Amino acid sequence: MHTKPLVTRLAAAIGALFALSAIAADVQTDTGTLDEASAAKLFPAKAAYSPYAGRNFPSRPLFGDTHTHTSYSMDAGAFGCRLGPRDAFRFGKGFEITSSSGQQVKLSRPLDFIVVADHSDGFGFFPLLVSGDPKIMADPQGRKWNEMIQSGRGAEAAMDIIRSFGTGTISKAILPMPGTDAYRSAWLATIDAAEAENEPGKFTAFIGFEWTSNTGGNNLHRNVIFRENGDKARLTEPFVTMKPFGSDNPRDLWKWMGATVDKTGSDVLAIAHNGNLSNGRMFPIIESFSGKRIDRAYADSRMRWEPLFEATQIKGDSETHPLLSPNDEFANFERWDKGNLDLTEKKKPEMLEFEYARSALRNGLKMEAELGVNPYKFGVVGSTDAHTGLAAVEEDNFWGKTSSAEPSAERASHPFVKAPDGKTVIMGWETTASGYAAVWEREHARLAVRRDEAQGNLRDDRAAHDRALLRRLRFRGEGWRQPCARAHRLRERRADGRRSFRRAKGQVADVPGRRAEGSDRRESRSLPDRQRLARREGRDA
Ligand SMILES: [Zn+2]
Ligand SMILES: [Zn+2]
Repeated sequence: MHTKPLVTRLAAAIGALFALSAIAADVQTDTGTLDEASAAKLFPAKAAYSPYAGRNFPSRPLFGDTHTHTSYSMDAGAFGCRLGPRDAFRFGKGFEITSSSGQQVKLSRPLDFIVVADHSDGFGFFPLLVSGDPKIMADPQGRKWNEMIQSGRGAEAAMDIIRSFGTGTISKAILPMPGTDAYRSAWLATIDAAEAENEPGKFTAFIGFEWTSNTGGNNLHRNVIFRENGDKARLTEPFVTMKPFGSDNPRDLWKWMGATVDKTGSDVLAIAHNGNLSNGRMFPIIESFSGKRIDRAYADSRMRWEPLFEATQIKGDSETHPLLSPNDEFANFERWDKGNLDLTEKKKPEMLEFEYARSALRNGLKMEAELGVNPYKFGVVGSTDAHTGLAAVEEDNFWGKTSSAEPSAERASHPFVKAPDGKTVIMGWETTASGYAAVWEREHARLAVRRDEAQGNLRDDRAAHDRALLRRLRFRGEGWRQPCARAHRLRERRADGRRSFRRAKGQVADVPGRRAEGSDRRESRSLPDRQRLARREGRDA
């Protein structure tokens, strides 16, 4: 990693040259006589004093959210979200905006990147329904829901819509599907918003969507992110789960991703999330779709397309569980272990091993011995999964999972999910102010500076390096080399402002000015908390 800078090597070579000639005599030149002692001063053989000169590793942490939903997601719209992709990006950039519940909202400091990841199925339905799109109004079901919303019975309409969508009884005539005008225009609007709000060097607005495989209520969701600009993303449309347009099997998603790279020329990656709600299906040894053991093809594809796992978000932590990590006092933090996503199936202890990150990393090593490829060699990030258009998960600025849970006296007192039997419940207060994704980068540059070959001068290479950050995300996906730090702890580091961060291998990185202002949360922690943190950091480092 630490090679000698070119200047040092040159100096050593030139020094050797002068040493040879000095044996014979001092060197006469047009500018006078150069003796050995003077030459040695001009070309010192030692490295520069400043440890920062010639530094060549990523030392700047960038923070963002790879998982923000807007009103373009069917469920977000039903729960009252009225913000669109453009609002979500602008909020991430640090602008003060008005939330769906009519309150002013702003981040304590701007984020560096946002992925608007609306659900692939039903993409863009709600804005059309609310605005009374003619095609929707021509359908009895669509007209009924629109009239319910207009007459103040929005909550009742939302329940009916979610139920119809979940049971597949929503009218095919009004549901935007790939290939329809409605679907395409929503996708293009998402792309346009990213293009408009992307600011090279300052803020990266990623183009993406969420592929929401949820068969039997078992969460196998993936967020898919495009590496390149809108000109490439416009050449395709999101992959849905609904047959015959798409599939709920991750293998089919990976096939689609391969075809998308060929078709558009844009690399893509997928980030799986909420293994904790998959009931033993997120990191399988036996595939739930075929009942067969994971084979080499599965392992190859998963490694090619899924270098990251979202280990924490508003619906709980997916890193580990007390039954898997009995000696880890943090393992019971932000735990959602009552069942699958809709609580239609209770959790059994034997499921845990196949849905949490730590046990997956261990099983991956075992599988590598058998298959030759480790399917579970991933890095971890946190993200929000906010369905409010607001990537706001700081403890003192938490805007919840849905617009109905935006700050109010009653926000936490209603059930978040209720099992069909009515007995098992996850309450609103159990949603967690979870985390962001962190990426180490040299600088936030979507523009690479390149030497113009024809003229020799420096120029910005906009076309070649747009969203270069994603390459870093993929690189960081090789996170098995780093201590498996909890993503939410990275967020605490974010709050540390100007302080130095200790990295693996004792490297020290200073955070540039943009993150300098703001409160220092760690100082405000109680002493035992700080000691625990210090102990844990010491162990991880
Ligand atoms: Zn999801
Ligand atoms: Zn989501």
